[in-house]
Amino acid sequence: MKQLFIEETPKKIGQEVELYGWVDSKRDHKKIIFLDLRDRSGIVQLVGDERLRKISSEDVLYIKGLVKTRPEKLVNPKIKTGTIEIEVKEFKLISKAQALPIPVNTDGYEIDEETRLTYRYLDLRRPRMIRNLTLRSQITTFIRNFLTEKQFIEVETPILTKTTPEGARDFLVPSRLQKGKFYALPQSPQQYKQLLMVAGIERYFQIARCFRDEDPRADRAYGEFTQLDMEMSFVEREDVMCLTEELFTKMVEKLFPEKHIKQIPWPRLIHKAVMEKYGTDKPDVRQNKNDKDELAFAWTIDFPLFNKQTADDFFYGSGKAKFAPSHHMFTAPMPQDVPLLDTYPLKVRGQQYDLVLNGYEVGGGSIRIHDPKIQQKVFDLIGFTDEQKAQFQHMLQAFSYGVPPHGGIAPGIDRLLFAILDEPSLREVIAFPASSGGKTAVMNAPSIPQSDQLKELGIETTT
Ligand code: ASP
Repeated sequence: MKQLFIEETPKKIGQEVELYGWVDSKRDHKKIIFLDLRDRSGIVQLVGDERLRKISSEDVLYIKGLVKTRPEKLVNPKIKTGTIEIEVKEFKLISKAQALPIPVNTDGYEIDEETRLTYRYLDLRRPRMIRNLTLRSQITTFIRNFLTEKQFIEVETPILTKTTPEGARDFLVPSRLQKGKFYALPQSPQQYKQLLMVAGIERYFQIARCFRDEDPRADRAYGEFTQLDMEMSFVEREDVMCLTEELFTKMVEKLFPEKHIKQIPWPRLIHKAVMEKYGTDKPDVRQNKNDKDELAFAWTIDFPLFNKQTADDFFYGSGKAKFAPSHHMFTAPMPQDVPLLDTYPLKVRGQQYDLVLNGYEVGGGSIRIHDPKIQQKVFDLIGFTDEQKAQFQHMLQAFSYGVPPHGGIAPGIDRLLFAILDEPSLREVIAFPASSGGKTAVMNAPSIPQSDQLKELGIETTT
């Protein structure tokens, strides 16, 4: 493993160092050749003789050289190593690079998406993308430390599973062992995390991958995304909101010190009032929308438990139902509104909370139903057939063995970082995202399987 990252070289003045990296640029002054060497941490200027002439941009290089202070007038304040340069004593060309199809020393916004994703492994070389991935890693590390301190346990849940409705289409995976049957990829770990509460885990979290077959938008990646999934037993709505608020306030202070949060504690906006005032349940309440460093977090609460069902709610009911859950079917009604389930379901408010940041919904959650009778009633109101109800029988059964009151939330990691950094697309904070047309980066999935693979699964395609 290499001993030194480039950003550390200014601490080594007068010493000989060994560096590994990519050649960012070359300036040939006949007898003297300057190279900028780049690694994950930054770039540094190398100075050498004609032997460096055969080196070109993006070659992978090893050098041994002397760290020297630059004369005052040659200091480059734009880079972290601008006060020094390295006199090359020895070098080795480790790997030659042909001319790249895209530049990697710009911010990359000017290049079309298709090309960036085809060559994503090059696109990620740009410092902006490396920074975004680094921040993403720092975010998940911060979350893990914070929640572990608060006695949460990280638990992994299955990816090959049964449908977990979050209002989108499922991705199906055919079973070879039971031909004709399919797994569904989880739209979220919702049911598992509730089952973990029945199991007595009490405080659960997972940096969880979720899969939803829905049309992409600027603030929605195609196919899959990552959530911080949390669930807690013996909590009320305020407990979940306060914990989330503490987590992200502290995270912003530590990892994004240049940003300021507009209001702490975060405002709690009542759904009805917010709809009347802004015409949306995720208002952008920033003081100044041109200020890149302002973060306006807010909670929207007191959502109706149900919306009128529309054609988009294909999953629920079977044409005969009038109601679709506004969050999901496990969300508990406000206790004082329970009688309205029998009379005016659309007037029932849910114990749901949405987390809003600068006009984006960056998370949502709720206190859950833990009374099997109320769960049954909600299934009926959304028009579940007996067959659909049977698919969720395990939840009702689990709840018959002693279930703690519980609730949780699932902030989106991609969404959060995208909103904090004010990036134009979620793809800027995901290493290998799918294109807006649903094609995966570099590998171009989906692809046509071999006919033997289909045969083994007992599947014939018609298109
Ligand atoms: N499962 C929900 C979602 O993915 C979050 C939650 O209710 O905790 O939006």
